[in-house]
Amino acid sequence: MEHKVKYGRTTIVFDLQRTNRKTLAIEVHPDLTVNVVAPMHASIEIIEEKVVKRGSWIVKQWQYFESFLPRTPIREYVSGETHLFLGRRYILKVRKGDENDVKLKGSELIIVIRKNAINTTARHMLARWYKSRSENLFAKHLQDNFKSFKDYSFQQPCLEIKRMKKRWGSLTPTKKLLLNPELIKTPLKCIDYVIIHELCHLVHPNHGKEFYKLQEKMMPDWKRWKDKLESISA
Ligand SMILES: [Zn+2]
Repeated sequence: MEHKVKYGRTTIVFDLQRTNRKTLAIEVHPDLTVNVVAPMHASIEIIEEKVVKRGSWIVKQWQYFESFLPRTPIREYVSGETHLFLGRRYILKVRKGDENDVKLKGSELIIVIRKNAINTTARHMLARWYKSRSENLFAKHLQDNFKSFKDYSFQQPCLEIKRMKKRWGSLTPTKKLLLNPELIKTPLKCIDYVIIHELCHLVHPNHGKEFYKLQEKMMPDWKRWKDKLESISA
């Protein structure tokens, strides 16, 4: 069952589950959903009170999952804030409308929340939008960039979008390509750079001379995009 409470100006929507446990547990997931597991007979008032009490922790968890970029200011998801997409800064506009929608228009990132929608928040809509855009875009760019590696007769790595504290991308020993979802906030060329860099690791596991020669061949201006990424995460 979905419930919601107010914590300051923030709405916390949570999913409530009842079990035989004796204490209440709160979990915040990377998709920003909040799960509360409560004892069978705890009253809803007590549960809501406990969620509000943990409000600052929940908001901190959200911020943790929302951005690993150190200079990202605290988000309230209100009109006028700026949010990044593919290296561009967009001005957030939140308004009511007939249907839920997230779209870019000029320099605006518009979030439309359906009138009478009860448990929909701009925060969750934007998180879902970023996620679906990342999934489509990263997959497409992996496919496109992999074409340059066809001669090496490797299989195209599977893609997994994974939050990593200090890395934009990584190639696992099982040849799975991990990409940080935060990349969706950086220019397309930065995304290509990370993908190409990791694909070069299919051929050369270490950062030796041969590795850099290949990377140079695959993306002659790689240095520029690497510097750009570093300036973002500095
Ligand atoms: Zn590397």
